[in-house]
Amino acid sequence: MSRLRSIQDEQVFEEGHDAMGNAPTIRVGVLGLGTVGSSLVRLIAQQGQAIETRTGIRLEVTRAAVRNLDAPRGLASATPRIVDDPMSVVEADDVDLVVELMGGVEPARQLIERAIRLRKPVVSANKELIASCSRELFELADAAGVDLLFEASVAGGIPLLRAIRESLAGDRIRRVLGIVNGTTNFILSQMTEQGTDFGESLAEAQALGYAEADPTADVEGFDAASKAAIIATLAFGADVTSDDVSRQGITAISAADIAAAEALGYTIKLLAVVERADAGIGARVEPAMVPLSHPLASVRDAFNALFIEADAVGELMLYGRGAGGMPTASAVLGDVVDAAKNLVGGGAPRHGSLESVPMLDSTATGSQYAIRMSVDDESGVLADIASEFGRNGVSIESVRQRGVDQQAQLTFVTHYSNQEAVQATLRAVEQLDCVVSIDSVIAVIGAAT
Ligand code: NAP
Repeated sequence: MSRLRSIQDEQVFEEGHDAMGNAPTIRVGVLGLGTVGSSLVRLIAQQGQAIETRTGIRLEVTRAAVRNLDAPRGLASATPRIVDDPMSVVEADDVDLVVELMGGVEPARQLIERAIRLRKPVVSANKELIASCSRELFELADAAGVDLLFEASVAGGIPLLRAIRESLAGDRIRRVLGIVNGTTNFILSQMTEQGTDFGESLAEAQALGYAEADPTADVEGFDAASKAAIIATLAFGADVTSDDVSRQGITAISAADIAAAEALGYTIKLLAVVERADAGIGARVEPAMVPLSHPLASVRDAFNALFIEADAVGELMLYGRGAGGMPTASAVLGDVVDAAKNLVGGGAPRHGSLESVPMLDSTATGSQYAIRMSVDDESGVLADIASEFGRNGVSIESVRQRGVDQQAQLTFVTHYSNQEAVQATLRAVEQLDCVVSIDSVIAVIGAAT
């Protein structure tokens, strides 16, 4: 019989202590002792006493799994029993709660499912996995009556998911705009502040350890798309996976785009945008021009932030470190404490069933857009181009002209327009003899109220 069973079945007293006055102990199994897992073990060692004082529950890391048993972990003060078979940790009698910090879809999925079937609560930071099968995992966890918590899977140390799930449970979220990838935010900040191009800024990010040797998941927006799917799932109670998120990365953003945005009073950020409309849900990741007056514009370097728009609360922003061992471990440990409290108190969490809501076709959604083009520097050009915008129903908010040799560079900022209409306009404008090239089309976020 596990120690937890004995607490629940035989020994619970009003204050939650056993007959000897000992706090109930929740024994934690940690799958993965990399950046986050090793920080979690250290943080539990540091904070264990404070957690026990605050909650009356003692946390003990009894087992951990890694791939390479010989790698040094630097965990002298709090070494759990370390093995290379993660399933044995999940199934061990001396593990009441499983923390998955391995990453990747398999075998993490099998391990989590097994833990839930054994009625052991699970905490994970695995965005890739949660963004691909949250519906199935929620159903499994609800059937077993155990927690499946994954706060750290989006924006690392920022308590976003708890804010959505608990603090905003009585509100109706309309839209969330997120800077959820620190690597791309660092690169764009460098390009803006140092005037470097994408390649140089990426190399700097890699040298500082902000970007992987293969940066594809970050710079092409895959990482942000997983997070967008998880935010949409929780914000709208809908079954949204990363495949439902339209995605554009930052590799095409040039120094000229950054300069043109600056000249118009904007900065460029890679945003995860999830929104609710009458016809369905929109979820996309795209570089966007953010007005310098908007709170998201001041989020620099590798920091993350979430700007939430809801009916009752209005606008709300959460800001902090979206990655790193200790910030992420902080979010993981918050989940561990919550799950431990439910385990001891016998709470039966409900993740709720997720609705199948139609996803808005990305071409049917709209935005304001900044369209930058190179044209012949001749009279009448502006009028010719503007008339194509009008013919396709795209109205112009502002235009800025800058002469470059024999050419001019025009940047049009449209009013809110349907993407299809913008595409039709671009096709028509491209046919004009005076247009040399359409250099970029970037979404524009409106000012905060
Ligand atoms: P990491 O440094 O690569 O660590 C992964 C750990 O899992 C390593 O200890 C590895 O063992 C172990 N592992 C992997 N596959 C295994 C297997 N099949 N069997 C046993 N052990 C296995 O990863 P991390 O950065 O800590 O990230 C962990 C999770 O947190 C990921 O889901 C990630 O997306 C998420 N996350 C990370 C951050 C961050 O800042 N790093 C932020 C938010 C969320 P070895 O050490 O022996 O290789």
